[in-house]
Amino acid sequence: MSDRDGKIWMDGQLVDWRDAKIHVLTHTLHYGCGAFEGVRAYETEQDTAIFRLEDHTKRLFNSAKILRMQIPFTHEQVNQAQVDVVKANALKSCYLRPLTWIGDRKLGVSPKGNTIHLMVAAWAWGAYLGEEGMQRGIRTKISSYTRHHVNITMSQAKAVSNYTNSILANTEALDDGYDEAILLDASGFVSEGSGENIFVIKDGVVYTPDLSAGALNGITRNTVLHICKDLGLEVVQKRITRDELYISDELFFTGTAAEVTPIREVDRIQIGAGQRGPITEKIQTAYFDIVNGRNPQYAHWLTKV
Ligand code: PMP
Repeated sequence: MSDRDGKIWMDGQLVDWRDAKIHVLTHTLHYGCGAFEGVRAYETEQDTAIFRLEDHTKRLFNSAKILRMQIPFTHEQVNQAQVDVVKANALKSCYLRPLTWIGDRKLGVSPKGNTIHLMVAAWAWGAYLGEEGMQRGIRTKISSYTRHHVNITMSQAKAVSNYTNSILANTEALDDGYDEAILLDASGFVSEGSGENIFVIKDGVVYTPDLSAGALNGITRNTVLHICKDLGLEVVQKRITRDELYISDELFFTGTAAEVTPIREVDRIQIGAGQRGPITEKIQTAYFDIVNGRNPQYAHWLTKV
């Protein structure tokens, strides 16, 4: 990815993509303390707009706060950096990746006295779990890896270190012939995917794990909670067991990258009719209407580039 044309915002400046480099003695590279965001911009009928920019920036600052890192830029600067990156790369629909990390002034576990940095990159990125998956649903397995307990690396931070657990689970799932993993928490209740929140539909009611299961407080999850309310669907946030997934009518993942992705199989057990379910399809349609600027009720979630 490093060998591309374009610009990356790095510590306050737009630099050439190929020159956006850090030193091998960077603290975060060694010890994994850093935080990032995944944001999407969509080409709406009017213009390109970043979806829920303010909420993503807020979560980035909260992640940094949890990790005791002081981002040396303001919210406004970080918002503006994201707008500038989309513009500078002349992107229409794209994915944005802000990342904050600890610098290379010193090594040793303690980050005290080190510098904090921030970058924002953006590139075109289609359906995260595949176009076909968006239509037909994907195949998943319950991971043999446990999601972090809430008192380990902090589940409400979108922390770099949390993704070793995600990588292990996702790699195992792909090696075993599945599309994605579903992780259980340390008590054995359903937590989330390696990079997605999960929703369950049973008898017309929508369920999702409450955040005590160690799942990230996903912005797409929150958007779907709004959509369910608009569609008059009852939503219950609760502890969910593995076998509740097996006997559900519909399942889907949510995430900025994954958007709303139906799940058609868990552990080789077919979910519902083994395809995208009717309620999932309604929620998916409503989601794409919102992000693509076709629902004026949510125009305030779109930041024009
Ligand atoms: N859980 C994890 C572990 C994630 O990486 C993501 C993607 N950021 C999500 C959930 C979904 O969060 P969001 O909808 O804010 O992208």
